Amino acid sequence: MTTCGCEAASQRTFTSVRDGIPWGRTSVLRDPVEVARSEEKGMMVLRCRSCGTEWAEACWSSGHMEVYYVFPVPGGEDPVLWLTERAEPLEWDASGPNGSAPSRTEPG
Ligand SMILES: [Zn+2]
Repeated sequence: MTTCGCEAASQRTFTSVRDGIPWGRTSVLRDPVEVARSEEKGMMVLRCRSCGTEWAEACWSSGHMEVYYVFPVPGGEDPVLWLTERAEPLEWDASGPNGSAPSRTEPG
């Protein structure tokens, strides 16, 4: 069984979409559970089934393609309230999400 990459990935800073991790739903989280969804914002909160870390998932669009990416739910926030009240995607960046997923390690 592999572990998730949440801990390593969440150590980074996430300031614009460039820092978002594309397809982090599968490359960082493990067996994610959907906690909340906002159709209006096109965002979701996902919880990693391995460690319980909650991540926001948003969609970046270049106009030609769409990429779903993840970034951490801000600390101290209730993820469901945050999503409905304050959540916004990361600041748009023309280069799109390109944060790489951390490599997963087998538990020792
Ligand atoms: Zn995890």
